[in-house]
Amino acid sequence: MGSITLKQVTKTFGDVNVIKPIDLQIHDGEFIVFVGPSGCGKSTLLRMIAGLEDTTSGNIDIDGQDATNTPPAKRGLAMVFQSYALYPHMSVRNNIAFPLKRAKMPPAEIEAKIASAAKILNLGDYLDRKPGQLSGGQRQRVAIGRAIVRQPSAFLFDEPLSNLDASLRVNMRLEISELHKTLDTTMIYVTHDQVEAMTMADRIAVFNAGVIEQVGTPLELYQTPINRFVAGFIGSPK
Ligand code: ADP
Ligand code: MG
Repeated sequence: MGSITLKQVTKTFGDVNVIKPIDLQIHDGEFIVFVGPSGCGKSTLLRMIAGLEDTTSGNIDIDGQDATNTPPAKRGLAMVFQSYALYPHMSVRNNIAFPLKRAKMPPAEIEAKIASAAKILNLGDYLDRKPGQLSGGQRQRVAIGRAIVRQPSAFLFDEPLSNLDASLRVNMRLEISELHKTLDTTMIYVTHDQVEAMTMADRIAVFNAGVIEQVGTPLELYQTPINRFVAGFIGSPK
């Protein structure tokens, strides 16, 4: 589970059309990267998939069911933000447990899920700390942990590493790729960083001013860019 189909999805803010009609099939289990310059509509499209933003027109199917008007909590997706969005007054354990407690999961089951996420993400030593006592990378792991325990059918990442310094970014990139292998779950990953896109993606969708110029594997985009924009953005001559 974790296929997502966008059919002629658009978004208009006021009279500005920020997403032109987009058709895209995201396959179950794939790691797809939305890449493109700042302001081209990547976050807006991701937020529409998450249900945090309404579509102006078009449809979004999740696992073959029309989810265009499904509230975010019922879509079975988990979003990880650049800003972590952790509760500062709660311990790591309680930050991760929060969505499960709200869903009335039995405490023993919650503990098991926290233990499993802590193991996958190397958070075992930090469970009783507050977010303010953690490094940026550790905070981002907690945010990912909070997503993992909900067992979403897809993870949506919006520039999750852009607040981290360069060397940590490289580590976290590898960790997220590892996590994708371990969980075998669909991941949609938004970035403006071409290197992240080229190294992490199964497929890349190259955005430009509200349209997807091209979708393909990193090699396809590198070897056969459809136009100068893609060639320039991916960094190969044409
Ligand atoms: P990206 O994530 O690719 O940097 P965004 O999706 O954040 O781009 O933004 C795309 C465009 O939509 C930008 O021009 C931005 O200013 C505009 N935009 C985004 N959110 C809103 C909003 N809530 N109201 C008005 N305009 C918005
Ligand atoms: Mg953005």
